[in-house]
Amino acid sequence: MGERLVYFDGQIVPYSQASVPLLNTSFRYGAMVFEGIRAYWNERQQQLTVFRLEEHAIRLADSVKLMRFENRYSVEQIQQAVIELLRAQQVKEDVHIRQMVYLNSEEPYYARGPVVMAIASVPMGRRRGFEKGLSCNISSWRRISDQVMPPRIKCAANYQNSRMAHIESFESGYEYPLLMNDRGKLSEGPGAAVMLVRRGALITPPVSADLLDSITRFTLIGIAREEFGMRVEEREVDRSELLIADEVFLCGTAEEVVPIASVDHVKIGNAIPGPVTLKLQQELLAVTRGDVDRHADWRTPVYSHGR
Ligand code: PMP
Repeated sequence: MGERLVYFDGQIVPYSQASVPLLNTSFRYGAMVFEGIRAYWNERQQQLTVFRLEEHAIRLADSVKLMRFENRYSVEQIQQAVIELLRAQQVKEDVHIRQMVYLNSEEPYYARGPVVMAIASVPMGRRRGFEKGLSCNISSWRRISDQVMPPRIKCAANYQNSRMAHIESFESGYEYPLLMNDRGKLSEGPGAAVMLVRRGALITPPVSADLLDSITRFTLIGIAREEFGMRVEEREVDRSELLIADEVFLCGTAEEVVPIASVDHVKIGNAIPGPVTLKLQQELLAVTRGDVDRHADWRTPVYSHGR
């Protein structure tokens, strides 16, 4: 890859030319909404595909709406801009796409526009803990409540809650925190959803437990139910149930599927990735990369020739 190109307010420009002024409202107050999307390079097909692009675009539009930004972009335009950048950059590797909508304003925090869309892509392989699992703690910080800020969408300001939990986790010698909500029930990780396996069922908290409406979460729920014939339970999870689960794992666009080996020093199962975790991990990788024909409608091809 040559110089990094970015999409910046309708133009493809070198990264060094895309900047935001110091007094910008979004920078000062975290008034920015965003998406994290993955595109996978398939060597055999010489094709790059974006995974669940439409679902990410819909969630970005929901974020714009909930944070009361001016509505400048259609779901179609949000998707087109991603494809335009990847083509311009001629990406031929796995990347994480960072799509942002922010306010080009120096007005106070209640400004609603004018809105600008910017996109960058960065190479990204598998994440920490992918093979051997993570040592987690239960954070003393609670997940932000839907009565305070909307955790179901991706607003930059929400991630200050994630940041507090993550730093506490690192400083306490763990690798990754899990957050309970203000009702004391399991919510999610700072940047990923949480799933458990117990008595053969896949269990995950409902979106109403103050978590991001994760695209990987509902993708895996569908795969577990429809392909694996598993019972899936979306319901409240207590701290004590988490500790006695057979398997626990994180899921998200960046994480894909990352096993959890222990929580607060209590081993999960044998502290090695469990069979359901591994099966979902493999299936998600095969589907995202297009190694299998299944779910072709989840993959948007970037190059029209395909070769
Ligand atoms: N929860 C949070 C707080 C996140 O930031 C993410 C990553 N976007 C997820 C869950 C996973 O969501 P998705 O599967 O849509 O990437």
